[in-house]
Formats: sequence, C-alpha cells, structure tokens
Amino acid sequence: MSETVTAKAAKAAHYSFFEGVERNFDKAATHTRFEKGILEQIKACNSVLRMKFPVRIGDKIEVVEAYRVQHSHHKLPCKGGIRYSMDVNQDEVMALAALMTYKCAIVNVPFGGAKGGIRINPKNYTPFELEKITRRYASELVKKNFIGPGIDVPAPDYGTGAREMSWIADTYASLRPGEIDALGCVTGKPVSQGGVRGRTEATGLGVFYGVRELCNTADDMKKLGLPTGVEGKKVIVQGLGNVGYHAAKFFYEAGSLIVGLAEYEGGIYNENGLDLEAVVAHRKATGSILNFPGATNINNSLETLEQPCDILIPAALENVINASNADRIQARIIGEGANGPLTPEADEILLAKGVIIVPDMYLNAGGVTVSYFEWLKNLSHVRFGRMDKRFSENQNNAILNSVEALTGKKVTDIERRQLLHGPDEVDLVYSGLEDTMIGSYHEIREAMLKHNMTDMRTAAFIVAIDKVGVAYEELGIFP
Ligand code: NAD
Repeated sequence: MSETVTAKAAKAAHYSFFEGVERNFDKAATHTRFEKGILEQIKACNSVLRMKFPVRIGDKIEVVEAYRVQHSHHKLPCKGGIRYSMDVNQDEVMALAALMTYKCAIVNVPFGGAKGGIRINPKNYTPFELEKITRRYASELVKKNFIGPGIDVPAPDYGTGAREMSWIADTYASLRPGEIDALGCVTGKPVSQGGVRGRTEATGLGVFYGVRELCNTADDMKKLGLPTGVEGKKVIVQGLGNVGYHAAKFFYEAGSLIVGLAEYEGGIYNENGLDLEAVVAHRKATGSILNFPGATNINNSLETLEQPCDILIPAALENVINASNADRIQARIIGEGANGPLTPEADEILLAKGVIIVPDMYLNAGGVTVSYFEWLKNLSHVRFGRMDKRFSENQNNAILNSVEALTGKKVTDIERRQLLHGPDEVDLVYSGLEDTMIGSYHEIREAMLKHNMTDMRTAAFIVAIDKVGVAYEELGIFP
C-alpha cells in the first residue's frame, strides 16, 4: 500500500474519505492472517450519532448539525478529537474516527477510535455563543450515553482547544453529580482543570522522538548513506504552529541544524542553521519570517521544502508534497508531523528514490499518547510524581553520599542537583512518551522487515490491524 489517506486525495480519485481509509486498510489487510469476518468488523464504524439541536444566537434560533462517531469498541473508552468546521460531515467524521482506531493501536494506547464534529465556523460566534453550542453538544452526548471516562473521551481538534474541553468537563460533571471520575470524560483540559503537564508540546516532541529513533538505528541510516544520530543533521520544518514549532525546538536542542523554515508568508534558508527562537522573535516583531538576518528569502513558501536537507518535517497542511514537486524533494527522511502532507503519488515517487517516510499515523500520535496519560491521571486522582518524587530524591541522596564516602571524591553542585532530582509530572510524561515512540518505531520496523517492504506507512497499518484483530479474537465475539 502506498496510498496516503487524505480527504482531498480521496475526493480527487472519486471516492469518499472513509472509502479511502477502507482502501488502504484492504491493501494492508492482505498481509495479515485474519479471516474476512474479523477484517469486516475492524473496518466498520460501530456507532454513529448524528444530531441537530437548536441554539439561540442573538435574536434567532439556529439549528446546529453535529456528530460523534465511535469507530471501534474493541477497547474502551473510545477516544478522538472534536472539530469545529464548516467541512464537518458524516463521512469525514467516520474516516477520522477509523484513523484514530489505528493510531491508538500503533502507539499502544488502549482505546477504540472515535471522532466528533460540529458543523460551524467558530470565527462566526462570540465566546458566549460558542460556550452555549459546546455545552449543548456535551449534554446531547450525555443524553445518548456517548461520553464518559469509561465510554468515550473527546479531545481538542481543529477549531477547539483547552477552553472547549473545560466547558465539556463542567457540563458532564454537572449532569453526573457525584461521579468521582468525571474529569476523565475529556482530555486536553487546562492543568488547573485536571489537564496534564507536557500536553501542549506532546505532538511535536513525539515527532522528534520518532525521527530521532530512526536516526539512531544504524542499519536504517546505512541504507540512506547518513551517519547515525540527529546531531548535525540538517532539518527543514514547514509550519511554525503547535506541532512544527515544538518539533523544530526539540531538534534544535538536540544539536540538529534547522536550515529551513516555511510559513504561509514565505520561507527562509541558511545552510549553516537558523537560531529558532531568534526567528520566532523576528516574526513576532515584523509579522513575517522573511528578511531574517543571514538567511535567504524564499518567496514561494512551498519551494522551501525542495532545499537541501537530511530531514523534512511538513507540519502545516495536507497534500503539500504531491506529483508536482515530489521529485524535487532532496530530504532523505520525511517525518509527517501534519496529517496527510503527502499524496499517494508523492509517496510512490519518494519511495522509489529510497526516501524513508515516517507516517503520520505513527509520528504525530504524541498528542493522543499524552491524552492517555491525562486520563490515567484523572482516574488516579493524583498528580504524576506526587507519591515518589521525594522518595527518589532521598534515595538518590543516600546513594550519592555513599559513593562520595567510598571514593573520597565530591561531585560538583550542578552534578549533585542533576543526580538528586526526582521526577516531576512533566518528566514522567516525557519519559512515557519517549518510551512509546521508541517502542512503536521498532514494532513498525519489524513489520517492514518481516514483510520485506520499504513502505513504513503500510507496515504501520499492518501493525494496527494485527493488534485490533487480536483484540477482537480474544474478546471471543466470534465463537
Ligand atoms: P497550527 O494551526 O498550530 O499550526 C499550523 C501552522 O502552519 C501555522 O503556524 C500556520 O501559519 C502554518 N501554515 C499555514 N499555511 C501554511 C503554508 N501554506 N505554508 C507553511 N505554513 C503554513 O496547527 P497544528 O496543531 O500545529 O497542526 C498542524 C498539523 O498537524 C495538522 O495537519 C494537524 O492535523 C496535525 N496534527 C496536530 C496535532 C496537535 O496535537 N496539534 C496532533 C496530530 C496531528
């Protein structure tokens, strides 16, 4: 399978987005051992809730159309974001819910996939009106038993954020008085409302961990003719938003050279590396990344992606690498930070050139992984690190004192502080995310080797189908 699943690609090929997901599934499924019935069950959307509800906006009543789709109940709760957009329709929500099932399986997050959407342009409403719409949507979900910490746990997506998640949590809690786990009904909340530290940067950090693991795998680097490690590697990032900025920041801090950055107003390139924070400050001051001192301007932003580099991270939009520009891409590694940045044609052209494409379904799963940690925190009613931080510090102190007494040598104050430090919540979240991204990388890599394929996207799909298929078999629902 070399097709990427994107809404636009599916439309251009005259099949729906959901059918596109099914086509990719079918291609990968030929490499799995499951009987037809199980494959049909994995593919199907288990529950679709379509609702229309009235909301008073100003002096008029508006009828709002909204959805929640639970694609798979093989693990509960279901999980997936809620988007506010005029493009929301049943097919899109079904396709995105299906992709969530496979994404969760790839990164071993024990949830079924789901997705929700409200067909509105959030820019057309005041915060007060948005709150009314969101709270009504949440109460519709409660009414139909489509939300709850053990049922279905939404999260932010396009057009929604921590504010909307707060409204949802509050609506749920007020309709379910006394439910002690109520805060676990939604993730992506502000830290003051039960959110978890490290959620904001999670997707970008996951992108970094995933690509770093590829770069640390000597055999994979040998195939590309590159040295191991991310240090010194030249990176271009498209999109300086949540995913792109954080991915770039972590590469920069690990010693990679950020040679190119692309935003909608244009791109900049400097083969000796750009100072990321200085670029961000320059953009804030001037309104543009262009004319950054020492860098070459690229007025056609898309051409930034074609400049020399080792690693390219598209982290902005869909379909930016396609049949028209794929053969000019010079990167040896493409890490899909965005959803669907490569078209099926681009996939084929780049795979033929021996480029390694790290697929979105795996690489941008940091957000859902840390959402899982937030849900665990809500169910356990305790901040990560609260019980063991001080214990670890006392233990480390005792060990260090013994080592110093035995050797007669003293560490420096800085070293002492580093060695004694017990884990805070954010340390544990980063550590859990790092372990997840490394573990899943190797699961996908093993599938590639087993099936003798170079296409990591297909291998990721195979890994997902294998896990969901085994879960259905072991549920014993097919006696
Ligand atoms: P964002 O809105 O924070 O950032 C997108 C950035 O891309 C913005 O800075 C925007 O100015 C820039 N951009 C817009 N048009 C551009 C163009 N033509 N050329 C270059 N840059 C352009 O969004 P985000 O949350 O960072 O999401 C980016 C992508 O990552 C999306 O595809 C999203 O679905 C995917 N994603 C995000 C998350 C998450 O946790 N935020 C998780 C998984 C996947």
